Amino acid sequence: MSAMLEVADLHVGYGKVEAVRGVSLTLDKGRIVTVIGPNGAGKTTLLGAAMGLLPSRGVLRFEGADLHELGVEDRVERGFCLVPERRELFGEMTVGDNLILGAYSRRKDGAFVKSALDGVFDRFPRLAERRRQRADTLSGGERQMLAIGRALMAGPRLLLLDEPSLGLAPLIVRDILRIVATLRDAGVSILLVEQNARAALETADYGYVLETGEIALHGAASDLLNDPRVMATYLGGA
Ligand code: ATP
Repeated sequence: MSAMLEVADLHVGYGKVEAVRGVSLTLDKGRIVTVIGPNGAGKTTLLGAAMGLLPSRGVLRFEGADLHELGVEDRVERGFCLVPERRELFGEMTVGDNLILGAYSRRKDGAFVKSALDGVFDRFPRLAERRRQRADTLSGGERQMLAIGRALMAGPRLLLLDEPSLGLAPLIVRDILRIVATLRDAGVSILLVEQNARAALETADYGYVLETGEIALHGAASDLLNDPRVMATYLGGA
């Protein structure tokens, strides 16, 4: 099977500072691939390059097409959707309106928007209950749900998730990642960037460890969970 997303020898920099240095990874359709690593390792930068928000050098292909030739909007049209670390909700707008905004690229298709909204409310009953509330009245976990729900409104095929666990209590992290797994089971492919290595590896099919812009280690997520090197550095113990 050829990879849905193929990254090879990718370099991404900010001026003279190279934040991603020769990264290679692949994501097969219908899988969750996680990139774990400490603060500043280059995880957000990698997602920015995949989405087309940052210029990059190297191989970046989606279903065989060279992404360097496609802008952000083309990638959105092909089904890319980024859920940024800061979640970037519109606090003064209602939950429902934030969701509708997520369907901006599909706004002319009223039937799609309606069924996508029903789908999000089925998946996140909490958002349905709070649909008329302002987004800034939500808890941290609910905001993350809203950020993911808003991404789902675009009907994504590839979801790029930047640290969905950030700032959330362990039980909420588990809820969120359980939902991420159900999205994979519904056919969405997912690139999950996380500092929370254990939660990410428990959710993902395959994992890459990113250290100072380079892949230090990769393997099946279940193998990485039992790898002494990963345990010692990222899972809090030997
Ligand atoms: P975090 O978990 O903190 O988001 P990360 O693994 O996502 O970490 P990046 O945010 O990709 O890491 O940062 C990688 C490196 O690039 C860091 O050294 C960071 O200081 C640098 N960097 C990130 N954004 C910029 C920027 N806009 N300008 C200059 N340097 C940047």
